[in-house]
Formats: sequence, C-alpha cells, structure tokens
Amino acid sequence: APIIQAHGIFKGYETETGHLRILKGISTAFRTGEVVSIMGPSGSGKSTLLGILGTLDLPTAGHLFIQGQDVTRLSESRLAGYRASKIGFVFQSYNLISTMTALENVMLPMLSAEGKTRRQMRQRAMDLLELVGMKERMHHLSPRLSGGQQQRVAIARALANEPLVVIADEPTGNLDRKTGEVILELIFSLRDRLRTTFILATHDPYVASVSDRVIHLSDGKIEQVVENRVNRT
Ligand code: ADP
Ligand code: ADP
Repeated sequence: APIIQAHGIFKGYETETGHLRILKGISTAFRTGEVVSIMGPSGSGKSTLLGILGTLDLPTAGHLFIQGQDVTRLSESRLAGYRASKIGFVFQSYNLISTMTALENVMLPMLSAEGKTRRQMRQRAMDLLELVGMKERMHHLSPRLSGGQQQRVAIARALANEPLVVIADEPTGNLDRKTGEVILELIFSLRDRLRTTFILATHDPYVASVSDRVIHLSDGKIEQVVENRVNRT
C-alpha cells in the first residue's frame, strides 16, 4: 500500500485579477522507499505540489492521505506536530543555521520532538552525521563547509526525527555535476538502509534518470509518469 496518496489535489490563489489556479487535479501515490522526481517547466507547480505533499500548505480541494490518514482534516497545530515527526525537508540552498555547528544543526529538529534526552539527541545527531559522511566535521560552523558538505548535513538534519518521507526542492540545484551525483548516491544509500521515501523536485536530467519514477508536471497537471525499470526498490 502507498504511504502517501494525493487524491484530486487542486490549489489556487486569490489575486486582484481573480482566482489563479496552480494545481489542477493531481492524483498520485508514493510507496515506502521510493525515490521519485517531479520535473516540469518553471511555474508548472512543482514547489506548490511539494508544499502540499509536505503538509506545509493545504490544498484548495482534494485530499492527502499519509499512512491512510487524511491530513487535510487535521487542525493547523496537529498538522505542525505531524509534519515535524513524519516529514523531513531539504532545500536547494541548504538552509543551515550559519551560527551553529553541523552537529547543532542536526540536533535542532529533535528539540521540538518529545522523548529524547539531550545526550540521546547528541548521539543520534552524531550517528546521522556518520551516516552521511560528515562526522569528522561535526564541530564546523556550516559556512565553513562546502556546498556538497552542507547538503549532507542538511540531509542528516532532515532525517533527525526518522521521517517517513523527505521532500527535497532542487537538492542538487546549487551543486556541480559531480557533487550532485555524490548527493544522489547518498540519497539512494539512505533509502536502502532506512527505507525512507524521497520526493525530489528537479530540473536536473541526471536526478530524473536515476530516480525510480519521474512525474512530469505541466501547467498544474500530471502530463506523464515514467517508471525507470532499472530502479533499485
Ligand atoms: P515551479 O516550482 O514549478 O516553478 P511553483 O509551484 O513555484 O512552480 O509556482 C507555480 C505558479 O504559482 C507560479 O506562477 C507562481 O507565481 C504561482 N504562485 C506560487 N505561490 C503563489 C502564491 N502564494 N500566490 C500567488 N501565486 C503563487
Ligand atoms: P478550464 O477553465 O481549465 O477548462 P474549468 O474551469 O472548467 O477548467 O475547471 C475544471 C474542473 O476543475 C471543474 O470541475 C472545477 O470545478 C474544478 N476546479 C478548478 N479549480 C478548482 C479548485 N481550486 N478547487 C476545486 N476544484 C477546482
């Protein structure tokens, strides 16, 4: 069974000139451990869709089921708690806090979750940094790290609360090709080890070519879905 199911998602905004429709009936599903790319021209609605799949934003119409639960029916405060415990986020520009070390950045999401002592948080953050190959730089402030290193730390941070799914908006967008490939290899090794689902918005044909599935968006609709048969799920 899919862990995430989008059902007839519409999203629109009210503007001075009327109702602007961005997503126009998106239905799709994601399985545990899948790496799925969302591609499409600028303005086709990729970021808007990621925001809805990540429960940062609610659809105008339609439903989002995560583990069978309709999250569009949760109150804003319950949704925030839900998001913090189930969903990790990775960004094009890493978005690490520059005054904190790698270790502190990875511990940060754990502070808002229940049930761990400070010592356990620190241990888990170190384990995650080891998993992404950044343990020896754990005390570095993030601006002292290269782009690829910052993205590794950001991925470790996204995994802090053992999410079901990591949502990544252009994760290789600021990286050179080689570094982007290394980040993708990391994502696949994490998927294999942790069975985390990754949903990536990307313009990068390389990212799409190695993903298990590619969803092509055009003008707020799914234009085409390509299953890459050589996938590793
Ligand atoms: P993509 O990520 O594919 O480039 P986006 O989802 O960012 O596409 O944007 C799709 C369209 O939605 C764009 O035309 C953008 O200007 C518009 N849009 C996004 N957010 C808002 C908003 N809060 N209010 C009005 N229009 C928006
Ligand atoms: P178009 O103008 O692109 O030909 P329509 O305006 O006829 O399409 O809308 C197509 C369908 O999508 C209609 O059934 C409409 O009710 C539905 N729809 C459009 N926008 C939304 C929205 N924001 N929320 C829910 N349903 C919507």
